Amino acid sequence: MSEARNIGLSVKAPDRMCEDPNCPFHGSLKIRGRQLSGKVVSASPGRFAVILQESYRYSDKYMRYLKRRRKVHAHLPPCLEVAVGDLATIAECRPVAKTISFVVVQREKASARAILQTAG
Ligand SMILES: [Zn+2]
Repeated sequence: MSEARNIGLSVKAPDRMCEDPNCPFHGSLKIRGRQLSGKVVSASPGRFAVILQESYRYSDKYMRYLKRRRKVHAHLPPCLEVAVGDLATIAECRPVAKTISFVVVQREKASARAILQTAG
């Protein structure tokens, strides 16, 4: 198979190949719309990942910042190695499943535990 497609974002293409038709690099899934990043709280390789976004919003009533959390489900192509605790970038795509209209395109940062494991 040929090399990875240019998906139009400034992300590094994965080293591995895959046969997933819903992979933005090796399949026919097109990227459009928004790009988000957040912490991976759940991942099943080749299927989907759950990305947690945390934001702080100021409350006039309580005069302090409130923590807001939002979970976004994203398709995880088998060529990307993303584990729980990593920081990942996701991009909007067409709906892949009922609750999935994002796809993981990059692992920004490995979790501290994964870095320790690879270090020895
Ligand atoms: Zn792929």
